[in-house]
Amino acid sequence: MDTRSIDRRRVLKLAGAFAASGLVPERLFAQAQPGQGAKPLPARSEFVIRDATVLTMDAKLGDFERGDVHVRDGSIVAVGGTLTSAGAAAIDGRGMICMPGFIDTHWHLWTTVCRPIIRIDDPKRGYFPVTNALGRHFTPEDSYRSVRLGLAEALSAGATTVHNWAHNVRTSEHADAELRAMRSTGVRGRFGYGQAQGMPDGEPMNYDDVAKVQRAWMPNDGLLTLGVCSRNFGPSQTALRGTISLDMVRKDWGGARALGLPITLHTSGPSPIKALDEAKLLGPDVQLVHPLLTGAEERQILRERGVSYSIAPIGESRRPAAAGVIQLGELLEAGVKVSLSIDTTGTYGCDYFEAMRILYNLHQHRIGPRVPLTSKRLVQLATLDGAVDLGIAGRTGSLTPGKRADLILIRTGDVNMAPIGDPYEALVSFAQPRNVDTVVVDGRILRRGGEFTALDYPEVLRNANESAASLRARANWT
Ligand SMILES: [Zn+2]
Repeated sequence: MDTRSIDRRRVLKLAGAFAASGLVPERLFAQAQPGQGAKPLPARSEFVIRDATVLTMDAKLGDFERGDVHVRDGSIVAVGGTLTSAGAAAIDGRGMICMPGFIDTHWHLWTTVCRPIIRIDDPKRGYFPVTNALGRHFTPEDSYRSVRLGLAEALSAGATTVHNWAHNVRTSEHADAELRAMRSTGVRGRFGYGQAQGMPDGEPMNYDDVAKVQRAWMPNDGLLTLGVCSRNFGPSQTALRGTISLDMVRKDWGGARALGLPITLHTSGPSPIKALDEAKLLGPDVQLVHPLLTGAEERQILRERGVSYSIAPIGESRRPAAAGVIQLGELLEAGVKVSLSIDTTGTYGCDYFEAMRILYNLHQHRIGPRVPLTSKRLVQLATLDGAVDLGIAGRTGSLTPGKRADLILIRTGDVNMAPIGDPYEALVSFAQPRNVDTVVVDGRILRRGGEFTALDYPEVLRNANESAASLRARANWT
């Protein structure tokens, strides 16, 4: 059955019916197509999580060794020792840590189906050559399927927000497909509209199309936001991604700012920060990615301009020594906004516990007590700091009454966690994605008991396998 054509007819009918009310048909149309493999999301229910170890990540509220979290209509209503809430369903939180979901601030979800082809031990089949070659053959359906698979993993790993750094938007249909995939999984996130793989460096971004996507998708119900991914600027170690001139940066970033959209940029080589600052291009709407080669003066600039830096430790720690070191300690010392990201699941799995562990290990290895780094600070990096980076800390990032209910439950009785002592220590030193029991986004229970409540994973898997095989054939990749 072609569910998409049925949705199209229904939406067009709706669009006609509501035309007089001022609703934009284009927006209705784009957002109502769930796409292949998508079922309706579970309803937002009222419930109380009872007797969990509650880590609110809210400095005023603090933590509860044994506490309750009340959720209604997608919002956190109350957090406390023992809450009375007549009529609300109870979720048993005994033996669980209840905390905000992880917030991922940089993830190229479209690369997920490239997994079976990428090799870490063969440069010709590495992440960049494979994604560049296959990326040129992506149809909107391939993008949809890859993003769905990536987000299925994100939810399984306890992420409730993802910044989808989409640097293969080949047409506006590709953008719609990625946004539909985000909408259909129920995740919160930012869609970062980026260049297509293989786009000439001398060609400016198509801001007519970015504006079209903005009109079609924004504003919405508050779950999705829009931003722009900048192409690389300055000397780059990833030649296949290209690099643009300062004039082109001015043009591209000016286009984003004219639409009021935030900007994100990889710094995968010698730092471009001074040059960007001299050109007066840095501001709080800029996020940089991969803090590996910044100087002290540059970190000062970042703090003063309010620029944030996303750290992707699993991939960064695999880079050669010449690429630099992960500068979390230096950034914290300088007071720069920082956040955590996975970057790609084309070449390793999504695991925020592993990401925190790597950061801790490398920090100890390089810097140690000179810049104190606690387990709690790392959990903050993976939650609240991400919300600050993405400009959504008023909505998510902590279990604060009034914020939207984006939270996870983590089993502490599992064999790799028990017996539990300090919960932050347990998260950073012992936890694994398989301990994530329950995932709630915007009040919808998307995973329970380690299983999806609505997402049809076998179908996601089947579609991803089909796309991976078909892309390999279309790209003539042997
Ligand atoms: Zn990246």
